[in-house]
Amino acid sequence: MIIAKSAAEIEVMREAGRITARALDAVSSAVRPGVTTADLDAIAEDVIVKAGARPAFKGYHGFPATLCTSVNDQVVHGIPGGRVLKEGEIVSVDCGAIVDGYYGDSARTFPVGQVSAAANRLMDVTKRSLEAGIARCRPGMRLYDVSAAVQEVAEAAGFSVVREYVGHGIGRSMHEDPQVPNYGKAGTGPTLRTGMVLAIEPMINAGAADVRSLDDGWTVVTLDGAMSAHFEHTVAVTEDGPLVLTVAG
Ligand code: MG
Ligand code: MG
Repeated sequence: MIIAKSAAEIEVMREAGRITARALDAVSSAVRPGVTTADLDAIAEDVIVKAGARPAFKGYHGFPATLCTSVNDQVVHGIPGGRVLKEGEIVSVDCGAIVDGYYGDSARTFPVGQVSAAANRLMDVTKRSLEAGIARCRPGMRLYDVSAAVQEVAEAAGFSVVREYVGHGIGRSMHEDPQVPNYGKAGTGPTLRTGMVLAIEPMINAGAADVRSLDDGWTVVTLDGAMSAHFEHTVAVTEDGPLVLTVAG
């Protein structure tokens, strides 16, 4: 069941989104060669806790950290730790915060120092695929209009859409109905209504779409070892169009 939120609930979610965005902004400023993914995790947790919110991922199904940090061929759910980021790598950082029981969820992929043109292009296309999906978040559109828009941008650039992991509804739980795949047939799926809130999160691979999980039980990597990027926003469907909640402003 898709739970529509009231305007008052969306205001609380906007605050959860704002804090999530501020944490990612702080991470963005800190990403450089020589920092560890654990350093980034500490920075994000500090921002969230000082804002009076709670990290959404810590303890979620036993996940041990505030961020998911996924480097290079890691797609999602990487665990922060002692890994030292190196020039030329990319790191996908997924972050969530809880305010008064409501969730915000957002991800960005950052370059570490100077990265290859191919890495820059992958990040740019993934971000653009998210923007294309967000633009479809209007009352009366169908859910897979969003999915198809993401897929079209990614595949037109020659990249692959990860199938095993998808976006989701979000509210008083991090993961609510509906699932929001990053692929699908336009004009199909549930009709979008005012008050629905979706976390749209393209995970786009430079190589093939196939992924596998590492033995840590969390980290997902590309099967072919090629790079992957991940961008995510929490977006409310409103009468006035898409309202991105995970922004710092
Ligand atoms: Mg996320
Ligand atoms: Mg999510």
